[in-house]
Amino acid sequence: MSFVDLHCHSTASDGALAPRDVVRAAHDAGLTGLALTDHDTVAGCADAQDEAHILGIDFICGIEISCEYPRPGTLHLLGYGVDPQSPILHDLTRRLIAGRSERNVKIIAALREQGVAITLDEVLDQSKGGTVGRPHFASILLRKGYVSSVTEAFKKYLGQTGTAYADKETVSARQAIEMIRQSGGLPVLAHPVQLKKDNFGQLTNAVKELVDYGLAGIEVIHSDHREMLIDQLIELANRYDLLPTGGSDFHGSSKPHVRLGWAGNRRIPREMFDRLLARA
Ligand code: AMP
Ligand code: FE
Ligand code: FE
Ligand code: ZN
Repeated sequence: MSFVDLHCHSTASDGALAPRDVVRAAHDAGLTGLALTDHDTVAGCADAQDEAHILGIDFICGIEISCEYPRPGTLHLLGYGVDPQSPILHDLTRRLIAGRSERNVKIIAALREQGVAITLDEVLDQSKGGTVGRPHFASILLRKGYVSSVTEAFKKYLGQTGTAYADKETVSARQAIEMIRQSGGLPVLAHPVQLKKDNFGQLTNAVKELVDYGLAGIEVIHSDHREMLIDQLIELANRYDLLPTGGSDFHGSSKPHVRLGWAGNRRIPREMFDRLLARA
């Protein structure tokens, strides 16, 4: 059997490893295929692609786009095989990153008001030039001793019910699906569990709506998915002719329990990579 990982993050967003190091880690883990899916950017793809070529691993340039969604859910779309040079994609990522910049200022203001000593420069430093995400804030809060874990940082300050939560300007799922397609990519719903639907019927309806907009696939295997959900999602993929995909959602040290190439005790079969590539 040959295994892959279709969902992972690098320092181009909130991952801990540089893009080349993610590819090296995939190679060390024996994977034969990898997709880099950083939040709202393809900035890591060129390095990762080059390293993959050197090491003889197959590579897909991907992206993970945060979309508008009613609370308490979150909707992330994966875009596989997007053209990193696409002007449409550049427009979209520029908009999303501008939305994040505005949010960063709001989060810092809220934290400082609560007596937390944190500056924008510290956050930008932490993000090493990549897409700034809340995990960067969490790392600083942890380092300075305001919290004792990343989980606590989200619970207390950064999560939807935290005291420093701020919304950011995003994009509708419909628009993101269209723009991923216009950039040559395949839109895939990431970790459907995070839509936080009460039951499978509601989840089915939500997926159906995305299918109507042009969704091409659904992430079936993911570190947050239990076995029963995986089975249900496979059924959903079959029903709507969606490509089933899988990934660990590896971030490195900010999510230490997630191993590259693994989602719980599952691995991601090579077939998922090949089917994606065939349709991209
Ligand atoms: P952002 O992109 O800034 O909205 O931050 C979302 C990212 O934060 C996700 O992609 C995860 O990497 C991370 N995240 C969200 N919730 C948690 C949590 N409770 N604990 C740890 N990391 C989280
Ligand atoms: Fe993340
Ligand atoms: Fe995500
Ligand atoms: Zn992710």
